[in-house]
Amino acid sequence: MDRWPERLSGRAVRSVDAHGKHLFVRFEGDLTLHSHLRMHGAWGVYESGRRWQRSPRRAWLVIRTPEHDVVQFDGPLLELMAESRTRFDSRLAALGPDILAEQLDEQRFLTRLREDDPTRGVGDALLDQRNIAGIGNVWKSEGCFDAQIDPWRPVAEISDDEALRVVRAIRPRMQESASRGGHIRDIRIYDRAGRQCPRCKASRIRARGQGDDNRTTFWCPACQR
Ligand SMILES: [Zn+2]
Repeated sequence: MDRWPERLSGRAVRSVDAHGKHLFVRFEGDLTLHSHLRMHGAWGVYESGRRWQRSPRRAWLVIRTPEHDVVQFDGPLLELMAESRTRFDSRLAALGPDILAEQLDEQRFLTRLREDDPTRGVGDALLDQRNIAGIGNVWKSEGCFDAQIDPWRPVAEISDDEALRVVRAIRPRMQESASRGGHIRDIRIYDRAGRQCPRCKASRIRARGQGDDNRTTFWCPACQR
């Protein structure tokens, strides 16, 4: 956060674009703030003088106007980029379609998925923002469970219909959660390792780290194929 106050002070915000969980705040003077919330990050907008939702110690960035405090809590990715418009757009174009877009571009999602490493487990591939933007670790597990797809199956063995079944299953659940500020009401298997599968009741939920980032995947070995 080298000299951020000096670099941003007094600059007007030109535009704000969300793409999945990526947020781009463009300031005048070719400065763009890029944030990604992963699991625990959050933005909050508060009227001046009002209490924030999270502790000030957890604030990574506070943008203050006469009326509002705009606060970024808990990162974990926050970067200030000074780059040309062209480079910025190519960066955005590198992202897959937004799972929360009003109309999901399913064809683009499938195209991206087919360009990915075919040996990669589908659960891991769903987390890759270049395939589809916005699916986090919770929804990866929940989506594969809803669609009854084994998250360890390589992408090459997943049909287009199966891949779409996953995203179509979680889209409404994610939209519902987004409308409640990210609160998830009806978790089915995420973080439920060792408990009985709520669907088939024939096995216990298993958990294991997956992919290069070793993000924990939860699944039922009996009813997810
Ligand atoms: Zn099951």
